[in-house]
Amino acid sequence: MLGSRPIKNFTKSQGKRTPFKNKKAVYMIQIIRTIPEFRKFRKSLPPHHRVGFVPTMGALHAGHASLVEFSVKENDSTISSVFVNPTQFGQGEDLSKYPRMLENDAEILEKKGANVLFAPVTSEIYPETSSQIGFTIHDLDRKLCGASRPGHFNGVVQVVSLLFHIIHPDNAYFGEKDFQQLMIIKQLVKEQHFGVNIHGCPIVREPDGLAMSSRNLYLSHEERKQAVLLSQILFYLKENYRDFNNLEAVKSFVSEQLTQKSVMRLDYFEILSENGLNEVSGWDSAERPHAFIAAFCGNTRLIDNMPLFS
Ligand code: AMP
Repeated sequence: MLGSRPIKNFTKSQGKRTPFKNKKAVYMIQIIRTIPEFRKFRKSLPPHHRVGFVPTMGALHAGHASLVEFSVKENDSTISSVFVNPTQFGQGEDLSKYPRMLENDAEILEKKGANVLFAPVTSEIYPETSSQIGFTIHDLDRKLCGASRPGHFNGVVQVVSLLFHIIHPDNAYFGEKDFQQLMIIKQLVKEQHFGVNIHGCPIVREPDGLAMSSRNLYLSHEERKQAVLLSQILFYLKENYRDFNNLEAVKSFVSEQLTQKSVMRLDYFEILSENGLNEVSGWDSAERPHAFIAAFCGNTRLIDNMPLFS
């Protein structure tokens, strides 16, 4: 059984620890459901106590767990949120069927050393009186996933801003799996003077190379076998992209591979500069070319990305 893990420099009397019952064990990670309760907890922390924050939508896997590990190493306490944010889902997307498994999530967070799980209900974050707030983050949110999923990054920026206001972290950890999201959050924090250090963490992959994702749970056995092609294409291009004459030739190769070897449907494939997500003029590694891919595997939209320079 996992025991209670004291928050560094933080005595028990300063915060209520809520035992969380799971199948066999009682977990002592503190589960906080409301903003006032979280604020009370936050105020009770000693001055100069470094708070790390890992925002998630739950259905946690080893990718999420790696972010928690980074945070635990670099902070005095680690807060992770599980909140399936409705405003970042478009019409007809998977909001209602998005996997929800809070008990399992609490167990993973506890094992990785997180101290608090902040898991508000939707109305806590968005009271009925909430107004629609519009954000544009340079041109960063108009391309790649921003073009395919209109309004998606507006929802992401909205919820991350709200969570930063509530949590007041010193450090926040985001995965490079959602590379464009990471760029947008960095820009948001700069423009809005949030005073939070944003850390990008490497993509965690399955043993065969598929980028871990909560959405992989949707894949049938056959789809799962095909999905690995996305990472295989990226790994191949990392080694060989200099052999192609131009971007058009790379794009044809990618779409041919998908058609010949799978029934996946390409949403986009782009090579853009790592800094600023701009078009690259050629194969100069000084431009830090980075490949981005999104494809539908059955009804499931998967994304992956990889730097093409070493
Ligand atoms: P999500 O729950 O999908 O919103 O993801 C929460 C955070 O986990 C985001 O910062 C993601 O980029 C990150 N993340 C998701 N999958 C992975 C992965 N395979 N490797 C590293 N980070 C990930």
